[in-house]
Amino acid sequence: MYDFVVVGVGPAGARFARRAAERGHDVLALEQGTIGTPLACSGHVSTDVWSVTGEGAREELLQNEIYGARFHVGGPRSDAYPFYKREVASNVIDRVGLDRHLADLAREAGADVREQRSVTSVTEHRDRVEVVASGPDGPVTHEAKMVAGCDGPRSRVRQELNLPEPDELLHGVLAFSEEADHQDFVDVHLTPPTFFAWRIPRGEAGVEYGLAAPPGVEVTKHFEELIDGYEIDVARRCSGAIPIGPADRVTSRRAFLIGDAAAQTKPFTGGGILYGTTAADHAAREIDPDRPTSLAAYERAWREDLERDQRLGHWIRRAYSLPEPVQRLGLSALSGEIGVHMDRPTSLVSPTHLKAMFSRLRP
Ligand SMILES: Cc1cc2nc3c(=O)[nH]c(=O)nc-3n(C[C@H](O)[C@H](O)[C@H](O)COP(=O)(O)OP(=O)(O)OC[C@H]3O[C@@H](n4cnc5c(N)ncnc54)[C@H](O)[C@@H]3O)c2cc1C
Repeated sequence: MYDFVVVGVGPAGARFARRAAERGHDVLALEQGTIGTPLACSGHVSTDVWSVTGEGAREELLQNEIYGARFHVGGPRSDAYPFYKREVASNVIDRVGLDRHLADLAREAGADVREQRSVTSVTEHRDRVEVVASGPDGPVTHEAKMVAGCDGPRSRVRQELNLPEPDELLHGVLAFSEEADHQDFVDVHLTPPTFFAWRIPRGEAGVEYGLAAPPGVEVTKHFEELIDGYEIDVARRCSGAIPIGPADRVTSRRAFLIGDAAAQTKPFTGGGILYGTTAADHAAREIDPDRPTSLAAYERAWREDLERDQRLGHWIRRAYSLPEPVQRLGLSALSGEIGVHMDRPTSLVSPTHLKAMFSRLRP
């Protein structure tokens, strides 16, 4: 019997598998397809990403360095309100490569990572869990002391165990144009209702255009308007779901959710790579597969770390739906140098940010 069966090998699953294996646990990680595919993510992350990667990752995965964002209340030709840092604020990375890299680290740590294994059922018993996965050899039942549901926004593990669904599931779309662009600003458009659209320069890998919005919003229509505004031809298109939480409960008797499955994302951007890997570290540290009661310590630890930022993130998101004149007024008053950490809205009251704000007031 395994200590942990991990369902899904995205950033959250790979990170948990690695950390649990490093602690000496016997870990089986199952991925339904080929790790990293299909792509449905911008890979725009804070520089903290390099704290979860291994040797050579930055050279291999970095596509561009970003210093700030230009906010627009209308399309590409509307006024831009820049927010920026003096140092690199974020990185654009090869997301498919990141997933493969993190999975390799899990393998090196001793986890048994298998692709083309789709989990179809999860059953909790008093002393174990049974996880059925279909693969090249047909359905196979694996037994473990615990199961980690790291299977993304539409989590099968969450569904099988009747754990609460995320409050909201946004629909995100992406498309790419091929010209190289090394600019160090992303563009953010507050035009789609209740969320936003973006343009990300990805260095030699081209330019990405994206948009996310809740169900009911005509995502395709708004996206076409964005593309038309930029007057470019886009090639590859893809889309994915973005869960917005926090979820009320992410653990059951012998199971726990991490990452998008647990809606551990930023409500004001939808970004979840760093929140998922951070929660994976809490899970690996707190959960003892021989003590189901230790699941409560994981619930406590990840909430203590991330929930305040998630709650503040909801407030920031509300600003996306303010009337346009109010948005323009707010953006023009607040734009300029900032000291906010992109994953931590609570850093709005950090000394670094306050110093950046007050330095603008100096004559
Ligand atoms: C359009 C878009 C843009 C985004 N941009 C950013 C960004 O710039 N920065 C950022 O931080 N975040 C971004 N995100 C969010 C980010 O992609 C997620 O938060 C992140 O991927 C969550 O990682 P995860 O490991 O929890 O889930 P996932 O990355 O979704 O991984 C889950 C894995 O589980 C596998 N799986 C699912 N079901 C099963 C099953 N039954 N059996 C076995 N395997 C299964 C899937 O194939 C997948 O590999 C974006 C999301 C979207 C949709």
